[in-house]
Amino acid sequence: HAGKVVVVGGGFGGATAAKYLKRANPAIEVILVEPAETFYTCPFSNLHLGGLRSMDEIAHGYDELQDRYGVRVIHARAEDVDAAAHKVTLSTGSELDYDRLVLSPGIDIRWNALEGYDEAAAEKAPHAWKAGSQTEKLRAQLEAMEDGGTFVMVAPENPFRCPPGPYERASLVANYLAQYKPKSKVLILDAKDNFSKQGLFMEGWEQLYGDRIEWVGLSNDGRVTRVDAERLEVETEFGTVHKADVLNVIPPQKAGWIAERAGVTDDSGWVPVKPETFESRQVEDIYVIGDATVAAPMPKSGFCANAQAKVVAAAIAASLESRPAPEAYWTNTCYSLVGPEYGISVAGVYRVVDGAIAEVEGSGGVSQTGAPSATRALEAQYAVGWYNAICQDTWG
Ligand code: FAD
Repeated sequence: HAGKVVVVGGGFGGATAAKYLKRANPAIEVILVEPAETFYTCPFSNLHLGGLRSMDEIAHGYDELQDRYGVRVIHARAEDVDAAAHKVTLSTGSELDYDRLVLSPGIDIRWNALEGYDEAAAEKAPHAWKAGSQTEKLRAQLEAMEDGGTFVMVAPENPFRCPPGPYERASLVANYLAQYKPKSKVLILDAKDNFSKQGLFMEGWEQLYGDRIEWVGLSNDGRVTRVDAERLEVETEFGTVHKADVLNVIPPQKAGWIAERAGVTDDSGWVPVKPETFESRQVEDIYVIGDATVAAPMPKSGFCANAQAKVVAAAIAASLESRPAPEAYWTNTCYSLVGPEYGISVAGVYRVVDGAIAEVEGSGGVSQTGAPSATRALEAQYAVGWYNAICQDTWG
């Protein structure tokens, strides 16, 4: 008996963990639990919003994991975890026992944390912060918008999934508007004063879109405190009401709810982990990866979820053989497209220093400001290369 591992969630973290457990030791029984038969990636979903990529081009399935790697994939939802008995209950009613459990459930929305933003409101003012029907809804609204309309985006405080994601989205929406609805604008109302790759985004916005994108930060009354999805209106901290033609609310988030059921979240709503192995700090034999975790300074990115999954696969394979886990390190690159031929990036390398995750000094960095357009075009190509490679590594 080489051991039995149940993995919950077939996104960037979970699918990678399942595959790399099998690669570490094919004798380990690996079961992946994921409700969806097709996974739509958030990475490049902003290209769909901008009319640059179809949903089929960001869709991935689980055949390779099953047929080539021998992962058993069950399309169901994990409903409960009994950590003491080492059992997971599924939406089908069946139970799975495990030696080790991996949770990579991504994020859930904190409904009503922002006044007026509940599940019904998300039908009118989509978040599109999980890719799939929400992405399609927002795209349809954008397509139906009259020329001269305003696309209003509400951006959240830290921490949240994909720090540069809102600003890439604003860019690709502006790119679409510039071509098809040239009298229209993008207004970003932000709950913070600084955002990822801000200088680079702003340089690109000025070059490509002039004043089409307006960004209002916290200090300039950018923090939205109430949403009226029916009227497509939002109200800020100091009482300014903004009317949208299309309203995209990116709300406050927390770890996917199954993490709370498993008892691994803390008061923040996220999951504290032991940095060396990403085992839960609170519950033995449960490993948590991806957006659900507190892993700063690593961002909540698909790249990091994939990197964390490999560390967890190696740590679990070792622990099932009573060997110590190998020393962990992680890398990340977040590419963003400011335009279809205008890419920028931020990269980092991380290790454990004095019991905490730290960015290795002198590693990584961001794209240069003031770089020639040929450099930006090259980075846009690297972004596509990155997308193809990580999807191959995760589901292929
Ligand atoms: P996910 O990939 O979301 O996977 C979670 C899975 O768990 C889902 O399939 C869900 O169905 C499943 N699940 C949840 N609960 C249960 C349950 N109870 N039972 C069974 N299954 C369950 N990252 C990058 O690296 N590069 C980018 O360019 C990039 N662009 C982005 C753009 C946007 C607009 C957004 C929103 C995000 C972007 N990201 C990007 C971030 C990236 O999408 C996430 O960091 C990544 O998906 C995290 O992986 P995960 O495994 O934690 O969660």
